[in-house]
Amino acid sequence: MEKIVISGAGLVGAFLAVALKKEGHDVEIYEKRSDMRKGPADGGRSINLIATSRALNAFTSAGVLAPVKKITVPVTGRMMHSLTGELTYQPYGRDESECNYSVSRSLLNMTMIDEAQKAGVKIHFEHSLESLDADGGKAIFSGKEVSFDRFFGADGAGSLTRKALLALNTGATEEVDFIDSDYKELFMPATAKGEYPIEKKALHIWPRGDHMLMALPNLDGSFTMTVYLPKSGENGFDRIKTLEDIKQFFEKHYPDSREHMPDFASEFFANPQGRLGTVKMSNWVYKDKVALVGDAAHAIVPFFGQGMNCGMEDCFYLMSFLKKHSWNWEEAFREYDQRQRPNGNAIADMALENFIEMRDKVGDVRFLLKKKIEHKIENAFPELYRSRYGMVTYTLIPYSLAQRAGLIQDRILEELSNSIDSVDQLDLDRALELINKEFVPFIKEHNLTLDRYKEGQKVEQSVLHNELFSKKMK
Ligand SMILES: Cc1cc2nc3c(=O)[nH]c(=O)nc-3n(C[C@H](O)[C@H](O)[C@H](O)COP(=O)(O)OP(=O)(O)OC[C@H]3O[C@@H](n4cnc5c(N)ncnc54)[C@H](O)[C@@H]3O)c2cc1C
Repeated sequence: MEKIVISGAGLVGAFLAVALKKEGHDVEIYEKRSDMRKGPADGGRSINLIATSRALNAFTSAGVLAPVKKITVPVTGRMMHSLTGELTYQPYGRDESECNYSVSRSLLNMTMIDEAQKAGVKIHFEHSLESLDADGGKAIFSGKEVSFDRFFGADGAGSLTRKALLALNTGATEEVDFIDSDYKELFMPATAKGEYPIEKKALHIWPRGDHMLMALPNLDGSFTMTVYLPKSGENGFDRIKTLEDIKQFFEKHYPDSREHMPDFASEFFANPQGRLGTVKMSNWVYKDKVALVGDAAHAIVPFFGQGMNCGMEDCFYLMSFLKKHSWNWEEAFREYDQRQRPNGNAIADMALENFIEMRDKVGDVRFLLKKKIEHKIENAFPELYRSRYGMVTYTLIPYSLAQRAGLIQDRILEELSNSIDSVDQLDLDRALELINKEFVPFIKEHNLTLDRYKEGQKVEQSVLHNELFSKKMK
């Protein structure tokens, strides 16, 4: 039994604690904030998340899928709202069985904290990491010295654990880049009858070039809204100074949302303005002592809905490698770093690309045509083609391979779309020819199956994904 200390009882820290405790370790978490179950959770940052295959797989592996499922709402596609109120629906997956799960971040966090405590993890709230002596196995949290055998930094994007590793002079480096857009949360309540005011099964987007509004459903008929605006400029946060300014902004850009959001103007000024950025760290582990997980290792922008999913996948592979290496921590940490860091970098880059896609392109006619073509070929040739979005969201294919697959797919879709104006004109024989020529060799080379991860499916933890999921293509 090892004495394990985790800094941060966010989504990933609390989940990792459950997984380690269930393996019989002595696990304690030190959390900077007070217990969110006892007070207002997030001070205007309720944030709804999309949980997909990677988080579902991790939850299944640690036996916490059932309590999580209870607090989620299935979402089957994107609903785009044009300026004139016209709606366009894009299904996410091949059919309705492929869906994402919308969940409130604070509710999910509280559920994970409950599960950790049920498993016997000790959580010390209002204890903030101040310093870390990795080699000496000691950390200071709010003046209290704590000793450990292993230490996990799950303390989010601004991780002090990461800073402590950087200060060790091992040559480790970090890159931190903020995008030029910020966000604010707003709220769309349920109707007087307790019903959803807009389509329940969709993530709603109002794409408007350099800014957008998004909505994700909650359990009670309401939606959590997020507005993303540039920090400054014509549509920037800095131009919106009064209630009248924000009312006019919504009237001009998101008119069909207004009738359902009675208090958006006052909420806009009451709620905090959040920053969005990417953090990449050159080394996620230190000897057999310290490992970074979740946003502490790889904060990413939220536009692929994968930050938390990737963090849960970190924990899944950490646990896998610990078992594979019979609890040789140094070897397990090394393999975790080698496997998961390139994947963290890949999803960070894809999330930035998706920012551009959601902001600028989802209203673009050619882009929508390519999406329709992709949906058609994905359904026509399910054994041979799976979109990058589908790979990231519905399979456990490593992010880095999904990223490379996406580049091949861009070429195929460009060629199929450049001489037609409607998906009805698509030449499926030509599509098959291109897929066989360009894409099939890639999936054969990497031994990938395109089947989706099925919710609750038990994945053997001791082996790598590729070995588990490989299905030789004939
Ligand atoms: C607008 C938005 C939408 C998002 N949508 C999605 C989505 O759809 N899907 C998805 O998968 N992800 C999404 N994400 C990302 C997701 O929220 C994060 O990836 C996830 O919260 C990371 O969890 P974490 O536990 O690593 O970090 P955090 O949730 O940040 O938790 C870190 C914890 O560490 C604590 N802490 C910090 N410093 C210290 C310290 N010095 N000492 C002790 N404790 C400390 C904090 O108080 C906190 O409790 C979104 C993020 C945003 C901002």
